[in-house]
Amino acid sequence: MMRGTLANRPAVQPPFVFTQSNLQDFDRCPRLFYLRWVARVEWPQTTLSREREADLLQRSRFHRLVQQWLLNISVTHIIEAEPAESPLRTWWQAFRDHPPALPAGPRFPEVELAAPIGEHVLLARMDLLVAEPRRRLTIFDWKTGLFYPRLERLRESWQTVVYRYLAVEAGAPYFGEPAVPPDAVEMIYWFSEYPATPLALPYSADEHTAAGERLRERVAQIASLPAESFTPCEDEQTCLFCPYWGYCGRAKEGEALAGTDIAAGPPDEWDWSDVPEFEY
Ligand code: SF4
Repeated sequence: MMRGTLANRPAVQPPFVFTQSNLQDFDRCPRLFYLRWVARVEWPQTTLSREREADLLQRSRFHRLVQQWLLNISVTHIIEAEPAESPLRTWWQAFRDHPPALPAGPRFPEVELAAPIGEHVLLARMDLLVAEPRRRLTIFDWKTGLFYPRLERLRESWQTVVYRYLAVEAGAPYFGEPAVPPDAVEMIYWFSEYPATPLALPYSADEHTAAGERLRERVAQIASLPAESFTPCEDEQTCLFCPYWGYCGRAKEGEALAGTDIAAGPPDEWDWSDVPEFEY
């Protein structure tokens, strides 16, 4: 079936894989979504400072470390080989000193859940899913950023919306029943900087209905846009920490805009430092 003339042809063709990462990118900047997830312009590594690259690598290593530990693979030799000042050591110590309370039941680290969303696919890779058959599905997410988010902001984030939605829509094989009731799902965020105070977000049928509507609406919006409609964001401060600044002629990392304290790093509402869920 033809999908519009060439000029107004939607840039996103089905089946397109939507994730919390690319939905969040669209909110930050439609052009960022297009460059990264549609045009697949390579992540311009040269604009990342060496420090930021090393930082992202350490965060990714922490996720792998926890995954290994959950699979009962010893990580002692990895930690012992780390330099004394390594953040990996600090985060791991925080995890060991204040581990999240894991429910009893089979554990599925780095599990992927997917479900159709219109003509497209919604996909999530969860740090950990703990399944208590016919009772509860608990999603865990490890955060290594500096900021302790507001509960309301976390509840509204695409990550929470997508993960809890998919636990209901695609979690049945783990739950052990044909359908997962939304109130059997909970998402828990654990923060390496605040390890003793994880945030728990239980779920409900009303929230699930709202999540489905919000997802379908946003996916339909994105899927209707021709390439030229993925416009650059209006707030140039968003560009300060975006590796695509060179494609847009926007402010470069390290260049101050009036009223911005670059040294303080990105504010929490557009913290780029968390580990991307998918880079494919
Ligand atoms: S530099 Fe700015 S306008 Fe360009 S993709 Fe990044 S956030 Fe969007």
